[in-house]
Amino acid sequence: MKKNAVFLDRDGTINVDAGYPSDYGQVEVYPRSYEAVRRLNSAGLPVIVLTNQSGIGRGLLTEENLRTIHEKMKASFQQEKARLDAFYYCPHYELSAIPRYRLNCDCRKPNPGLALKAAADFGLDLARSYMVGDKVEDIVLGLNIKASPVLVLTGYGEESLKKLAEIGVKPAHVAVDILDAAVWILAREKKAAKPVP
Ligand SMILES: [Mg+2]
Ligand SMILES: [Zn+2]
Repeated sequence: MKKNAVFLDRDGTINVDAGYPSDYGQVEVYPRSYEAVRRLNSAGLPVIVLTNQSGIGRGLLTEENLRTIHEKMKASFQQEKARLDAFYYCPHYELSAIPRYRLNCDCRKPNPGLALKAAADFGLDLARSYMVGDKVEDIVLGLNIKASPVLVLTGYGEESLKKLAEIGVKPAHVAVDILDAAVWILAREKKAAKPVP
């Protein structure tokens, strides 16, 4: 059977959304993120970060900057005995001055490109997977790939909750933060694993 996974948005979900950081020193991880990822790891769910990084297309940071940030983030989670299995990012910006990033792409969330790539790499069943994020685009992505979308109220979450109500889109769950989201996901998984009496 194919595995299911938990996709996590980065900014506003794992760490404070500070615009377009180009250095890990500018990234502030929410303290509860480590415990959230540890618990998901213990349940055997791959934890995969999907992040829109149009700052690259905007010329605010390079892909090398971003890879370094992600390596350091992975290492800081490792120190806390938590494992981020992979990072997938969209560097594109439709109006980019840099031709290779000037693209109306299929990987910018809510488009499914990043999740499809991860699904191919990890052999994932998207319909049994989860997408956790603080923006409308994260929730719509979750729906687009037929996964369960979970809105967190950190980052732009409160604002997104209103916007989602306006457009009539319902997340599978609204969580206070990433740890609350993990707890809900693990409860759901436990229920799904129970044999039918
Ligand atoms: Mg976000
Ligand atoms: Zn893209």
